[in-house]
Amino acid sequence: MPIQLLAPEVASQIAAGEVVERPASVVKELVENALDAGAKSIHVTIQEAGRRLVEVADDGSGIPASELPLAVERHATSKLDSAADLFHIATLGFRGEALASIGSVSRMTVTSRVKDSDTGARIRVEGGLVKTVEAVGAPVGTLIRVEDLFYNVPARLKFLKQDVTERRAIDGLVTRYALAYPGARFRLTDGTTPTLQTSGDGDRRAILAALYGVDVAKQMLEVLSEEDGIRMTGYISPAALTRSNRREMTFFINGRWVSDTPLTQALMQAYHTLLMVGRYPLTTLFLEIDPQEVDVNVHPAKAEVRFRSQERVFSFVQRSTRRALLAYSPVPSLPPTQNLWGGSQSSVTSNQSSVGLDWMIGHSEVEGSTVNVESPSVQPTNLQPSTFNLPLLRLIGQIGATYLIAEGPDGLYLIDQHAAHERVLFEKLMLQHAQKNIPSQALLTPVVVTLPPSSGAVISNQLSVLGKFGFEVEPFGPNSFQIRAMPALFGNADPAAALRALVEDFEEDESPLQQEIEARVAGRVCKRLAVKAGQVLSPDEQRALLTDLENCDSPRTCPHGRPTMIHLSVDLLERQFGRRGAR
Ligand code: ADP
Ligand code: MG
Repeated sequence: MPIQLLAPEVASQIAAGEVVERPASVVKELVENALDAGAKSIHVTIQEAGRRLVEVADDGSGIPASELPLAVERHATSKLDSAADLFHIATLGFRGEALASIGSVSRMTVTSRVKDSDTGARIRVEGGLVKTVEAVGAPVGTLIRVEDLFYNVPARLKFLKQDVTERRAIDGLVTRYALAYPGARFRLTDGTTPTLQTSGDGDRRAILAALYGVDVAKQMLEVLSEEDGIRMTGYISPAALTRSNRREMTFFINGRWVSDTPLTQALMQAYHTLLMVGRYPLTTLFLEIDPQEVDVNVHPAKAEVRFRSQERVFSFVQRSTRRALLAYSPVPSLPPTQNLWGGSQSSVTSNQSSVGLDWMIGHSEVEGSTVNVESPSVQPTNLQPSTFNLPLLRLIGQIGATYLIAEGPDGLYLIDQHAAHERVLFEKLMLQHAQKNIPSQALLTPVVVTLPPSSGAVISNQLSVLGKFGFEVEPFGPNSFQIRAMPALFGNADPAAALRALVEDFEEDESPLQQEIEARVAGRVCKRLAVKAGQVLSPDEQRALLTDLENCDSPRTCPHGRPTMIHLSVDLLERQFGRRGAR
């Protein structure tokens, strides 16, 4: 075939394919346009997960009637004047492609009125062809209706996922934009009842609950960090709160949702050693940086950006996140300037008082409170993974049958015996597992466990995974299993309890990766079989636990990310006793 220019409708469908992948992409483009128009109120209505209808109404500046035909044309934009403008883009749009693309794969109506005009105007586009322009009555602002998306590109329709999935993408998108722009009122409706409604009063926490549910939202940690003209705000999950994929890691850069960014790698580094294999945090972060420092023109759907000084941004994100995380739990040191009994000081911000000792102890259960990362409690030197190792500790004893006390060269350590033992068992088990050598120990008398039918089925499918961990389990009648051997590591722990812990784990996840199952299985068993709070330990047991903990790679958190210890530095003690400093 000789080279020929593509017919315009073919070219425009190819271009549309880059911008409009699914109903959620339509929602994204339209919401971004509304925000660019300065809207304070944005109503999104969908039908049939957006296939049948996506409608976005805003109270923004509107489009003058005379400009409507241009607005739906490709490469027509009011946001970019010259090529030089490309290098400091402050609007979300600039390519002038969205309306043209959407119009070429749907039946689209744009109705709009500007403040200075008494009447509005409406334009209809069907499959890329401009049908009509007419004068209509309309409120100030813009209303865009997109009907029958992909009606003329059936191949694209086939790629759409189930309604629930497309729907979830739209929900997630609108909720995240609501979070990014808490000063605007968002409403998302399918049919008659709003599924999301925000007040526009600037309160992000309330929106966070809509995004994650109240329980999760309560646990999210607040990030607030600024340095040399870069600012990051938002929320991250504590290390104990994770998902099995990266989908919940979202980033806004200068108000634009960017799905593909090396910054997620910076986040993963910040969580380094705190997460189990195959687990990912939940993050909703907003980065603000001088537009000249970002190139947003590298992806058709603007889903990717480049930074002029990539390393600086990367490191900033990594450090800010790490600081927020450490301030929350794994940091064992109390800041020297902190009042030991949790009282706040005049010089610190209001959130700060929550970082006192009482608070840290209370947080062995993950129940949430937030942390302001501007907290002085974490020095930058703590940011290297190497500082996670422990110095040699001298055991002093056990208190409350729950904590060990030990002395190190740099002060006093209070160790949660349960969390510490969990960590020790976990690392030993994972090491043996990695070496494919988990010593197993036969039980003197095999133990029979009967499980509920659903759990029975789950375990039957996982007998081989259990085998890898040194459990010898055999079916023993309907929903009953006989345990013949256990990992030697667990000594004489209760085999039935171990098996039940495993069942819970398998039940929780639908189809996790094998590697992930294994880490989780190990974490769960270790949790169940570790010594409990309230269990008196002999001095030998205490010492053994401490030594084992010193040998761990990540001794300062349990496998679920909770702290194993609190460190009271010599410096802190001196200040608390008024031996040093002003107080
Ligand atoms: P871009 O946003 O890249 O400029 P679009 O195709 O999304 O391109 O929109 C084209 C133009 O139409 C915009 O530049 C803007 O002038 C106008 N426009 C689109 N949507 C709206 C809206 N909701 N309110 C006001 N103007 C709009
Ligand atoms: Mg746009």
